[in-house]
Amino acid sequence: MNEHNDNFEILVIEDSRTIAMQLQIILERQGLQAVVTGNGLEALQLLQKRPFPIVITDWVMPQMDGCEFCKAIRGQTFDYYIYIILQTSKNSKDDIIAGLKAGADDYIIKPINPAELVARLNTARRIISLEQSLKRHNEEIMLLSITDLMTNVFNRGYLDKQLASALKYNFRYNHPLSIIMYDIDHFKDVNDQYGHQVGDMVLKRFADCLKQNLRQDADWVARYGGEEFVVVLPETTLTNALIVAERKRQRISEMIVESERGPIKVTGSFGAACVLPSKERKQVSMETIIAGADRCLYKAKAEGRNRGSGTLL
Ligand code: GH3
Ligand code: MG
Ligand code: MG
Ligand code: MG
Repeated sequence: MNEHNDNFEILVIEDSRTIAMQLQIILERQGLQAVVTGNGLEALQLLQKRPFPIVITDWVMPQMDGCEFCKAIRGQTFDYYIYIILQTSKNSKDDIIAGLKAGADDYIIKPINPAELVARLNTARRIISLEQSLKRHNEEIMLLSITDLMTNVFNRGYLDKQLASALKYNFRYNHPLSIIMYDIDHFKDVNDQYGHQVGDMVLKRFADCLKQNLRQDADWVARYGGEEFVVVLPETTLTNALIVAERKRQRISEMIVESERGPIKVTGSFGAACVLPSKERKQVSMETIIAGADRCLYKAKAEGRNRGSGTLL
């Protein structure tokens, strides 16, 4: 039975059809799919098109031999590790050292003993699955480090870093960038009346509402602090940002959060700010655009809440 859960193909580089077939049969018995090519150059081209975490390569081949192939792989960057097993009839210590030095992870001496190949393949599969699980964990940790865990939008650290670089990018290419800062109106009253847990629930729903209907892979939301959120809209003019801001404000005011003590309704106020780059001016800092949005938000609060306006910087 196959104890591994690998759904990838194994790349076999072998110029002898007989040996290639023999390898293919051994691999298939292990539940592994093999893709066979006759030389290192062809293999490199295949690796540009799709991933092969495990490669079994012959040493002596026309055009590009196994050692040259190993060196070529180690000289490039792939976003995953390529585990290379070099199969060779060269079995002197010097040859083996040369193969490992070129970048092979392991070697097997011809004629191939199927049980030995399976054992070496299992080592390869263990390492590959370890690498894949490390990668998954790293991605999870990376995501956790930029997420506000309560509301599931980006956190303040991400906002500070990404907004600064989004501003730089938009400035370089002369594109406008807008932000909208939202603050829940009288949120303290929600906590006071219903308790913090219900308050948290309202915060989550508020953030969900801000996330809805944004342009995928362009716009994003971050929690600025407490009950304040920032929506970042790259390549967006003030007019368009105000349309988005107003639509969201409307949706929030229509939102009903069910609680044990009955339905809760909240409103939010906003302030928007847009940076329009021009050749004559210096770059606008993150602090400036945030302060611009904050001023408009403050005005919305002073004028009665559940409203907002914007400023062009
Ligand atoms: P305004 O309309 O002027 O914004 O009034 P407000 O009551 O919303 O503003 P204020 O700044 O007085 O209070 C903000 C409240 O938000 C107080 C704070 O306890 C609450 N808050 C901040 N973070 C959280 C949180 O994570 N969970 C809960 N439940 N409440 C929070
Ligand atoms: Mg050969
Ligand atoms: Mg506030
Ligand atoms: Mg508030």
